[in-house]
Amino acid sequence: MEFDCWGRVRDQLLTVIGKDAFQNWIEPLNLLKVSDGVACFSAPTSFVGTWVDRNYGDKIASMMTAEGVTVNRLGFQAERLVKTAPAPTAAKPVTQPTNKPIVTRSNELLGAPLDKRFTFDQFVVGKPNELAHAAARRVAKGGPVTFNPLFLYGGVGLGKTHLMHAIAWEIKEHNPQTKILYLSAEQFMYRFVQALRFKDTMSFKELFRSVDVLMVDDVQFIAGKNSTQDEFFHTFNALIDQNKQIIISADRAPGEIDGLEERIKSRLQWGLVVDLHPTDYELRLGILQSKAETQYVHYPEVTLADGVLEFIAHRISNNVRVLEGALTRLFAFASLVGREVTLDVVQECLADILRASDRKVTVDEIIRKVADHYNLRLNDILSPRRARSVARPRQIAMFLAKRLTSKSLPEIGRSFGGRDHTTIIHGVKKIEELRAIDSQIAEDVELLRRMLEA
Ligand code: ADP
Ligand code: MG
Repeated sequence: MEFDCWGRVRDQLLTVIGKDAFQNWIEPLNLLKVSDGVACFSAPTSFVGTWVDRNYGDKIASMMTAEGVTVNRLGFQAERLVKTAPAPTAAKPVTQPTNKPIVTRSNELLGAPLDKRFTFDQFVVGKPNELAHAAARRVAKGGPVTFNPLFLYGGVGLGKTHLMHAIAWEIKEHNPQTKILYLSAEQFMYRFVQALRFKDTMSFKELFRSVDVLMVDDVQFIAGKNSTQDEFFHTFNALIDQNKQIIISADRAPGEIDGLEERIKSRLQWGLVVDLHPTDYELRLGILQSKAETQYVHYPEVTLADGVLEFIAHRISNNVRVLEGALTRLFAFASLVGREVTLDVVQECLADILRASDRKVTVDEIIRKVADHYNLRLNDILSPRRARSVARPRQIAMFLAKRLTSKSLPEIGRSFGGRDHTTIIHGVKKIEELRAIDSQIAEDVELLRRMLEA
């Protein structure tokens, strides 16, 4: 009962406070129980609880009461104490299928709304995304269509949607007449199913075929949905034949989307297929710097200690959405408590995010990197050879395996071609000793550690 009630209140909150705030503050909460008028939630950190209470406490209490469960106030428990599963990060997208009509009075095409912040200006370019960015720019410039379709793919939160919106904004700016339709594959399907239901497939077809630019986001969604794929394929072909620009995104390369028809896969590969690589440290830092500028506008009183952005760039992995969420939370926290944001504050405030994105290095990865570094073959490291040129790197790999993973000595032994755990202990000790007296070894170990943790 109270859980249903919370479910409904959550839905309402999404519309009341907006998607960003919702993802940052409400999504990480779990309702534990309601008793004696107190709704008790678990929150990823105590700070999130405090913030929600101050900013949304009354609202949530009255909404829950209106939905039938009397709540006077909220209580929060930090998840670290509750010891639940890894805290959800802000990575999960909130999707709401819209059922708005597709054509407005002014006969303007209505796809999903474009996010004002997703422009080229706001997109930070680095090695991992420069190709995708260049291709997007090129398509946005228009002219004789050369890259058709443009297929952008990459993992969650790497900027696919951002680039698509940026293309749309750019085209609109230079060519306001262009009819652009941007929507998610899910919405495409939803509208198609609606059209079938209301026996109105003719206008559906006409509509989609009348656009100049069609953008379909997250196309992996239609994999396995056969009639939708069929319709998509026909729409796609009709537009390509008329030389209309198509831009598609997916979380994988066309060939790797299971359940997508072969003819569609091959058609998608006709144009330009570019991927967004996982972010690297430099790009993450660049993005953080640029987003921090924006935050300062809202929170001019906040100061970040030196090294804070570097720390976050180092410790929080790939997903840019998670990076942004972390920064937003940090600024909110700082403005609330009026303290300078030091590394200690960061660790406290972002504990859950930091924990969730701790990268797990595997023993195999370590062995491979070390072999690479010393120009050895994998087999050399795993072999019984005792020559120092092989034995030393092997011991370094053992040392790193012990330090960087949580594997037990026997487990590590097995990964090293079935060695005894005493051999591993010996190797680890040896490197510990050598590091203190041999600066070359100390440097190598440090370099490898950094590469493995990057
Ligand atoms: P995807 O669609 O690939 O899952 P999004 O385009 O939604 O990812 O990006 C997630 C968030 O990260 C957005 O808020 C977006 O603005 C931001 N973002 C991603 N890449 C960049 C970048 N290179 N520069 C600035 N912001 C970025
Ligand atoms: Mg997206």
